[in-house]
Amino acid sequence: MKKQLLTAVISGAVILGGSTFNPPVADAAGKGPEHQGNETVNTQILHSYKEMMSDLERQNKKQEHMEVEVIGQTVKGRDIPLVKYLNNPDNPTILYLAQQHGDEALTTKGMLDFIKSLGTGKMKDVLEGVNILMIPMYNADGAMADVNYELEGYAAKGPRHLTRYNANHVDLNRDHAERTQPETQALHQNVLQKYDIDYMMDLHHQGAQWVKDGKYVSGAIFYPHPNHTNEDVLYRSKQLGAVVYDAIEPKGWGHLAKYAGKGSTYSPGIGVYGIANQYDISTFLFEMRGTADNANDFEVLGQKSNGYLTKQTVVAMEETARSISSGAILKEDISFWGDLPVQESILED
Ligand SMILES: [Zn+2]
Repeated sequence: MKKQLLTAVISGAVILGGSTFNPPVADAAGKGPEHQGNETVNTQILHSYKEMMSDLERQNKKQEHMEVEVIGQTVKGRDIPLVKYLNNPDNPTILYLAQQHGDEALTTKGMLDFIKSLGTGKMKDVLEGVNILMIPMYNADGAMADVNYELEGYAAKGPRHLTRYNANHVDLNRDHAERTQPETQALHQNVLQKYDIDYMMDLHHQGAQWVKDGKYVSGAIFYPHPNHTNEDVLYRSKQLGAVVYDAIEPKGWGHLAKYAGKGSTYSPGIGVYGIANQYDISTFLFEMRGTADNANDFEVLGQKSNGYLTKQTVVAMEETARSISSGAILKEDISFWGDLPVQESILED
């Protein structure tokens, strides 16, 4: 049976927020972080694989320092592009990874916006101090729902669906230890084992049901598992998170909690844990609120929230690149992690 959002709890949250007005959820059309989004998502407005590739091609022609390397192919034979800005081998390197789950689409849009911004004067100095690697659409088959299984009851409208799994119905973010899939093999052999990477930000979306202090979160953040990560590597992961927290939380729409969800328990197959463990890369998980398509209604967030969720991705990428480049990240205080509440779900079982 489908889980249902608890309307009563949401109304309670509005009162906690200081308002005596108690609107039905369907009327909460604020379009900001508090928006519950019962409107549908039209997948036409999300980047298709083809549109993502032509965006990269366009920027590659314009930008002198940008390179694109194909690191392998998906199950269905789509090239997986790695975008590279490698100005100086002595600089620290960060890898940004988007859309391991094909239904988590706005991080790809955010990454493409970030790539565009790297071609402008505003980010020119930043590139002098940091090497940047990016995979904008890791699970392209899932993003296009070009898969070897049926999708039933998916919520989105438009020319295509999007699904979490790859074409073989494997969750790529559970495959980082066994590496049974071509996408995972490409990432490990041709990126993680080939480049000297210091930091990795793994960009996702989560269900729309998570709250902190009675208010919907704009996102959730997490570091690798303390029991399975080198101490220094873990410390630098927490510093990466501090940069993101300081950049996002003060924004009007920013409301971050500590992650709790499907991936809370340690498994080496999960990227944020396994990649830190296997390669001593300081990993960081960032989950934006709400997915683009799903068979569970509570996972999907309507498209009216797209603007701030995309912006959240761009800000996180720009500020981490800037902080690594200047070296400011090395002085980041990690104590906020101790006070950051774990998000809570408003779903009933
Ligand atoms: Zn995900």
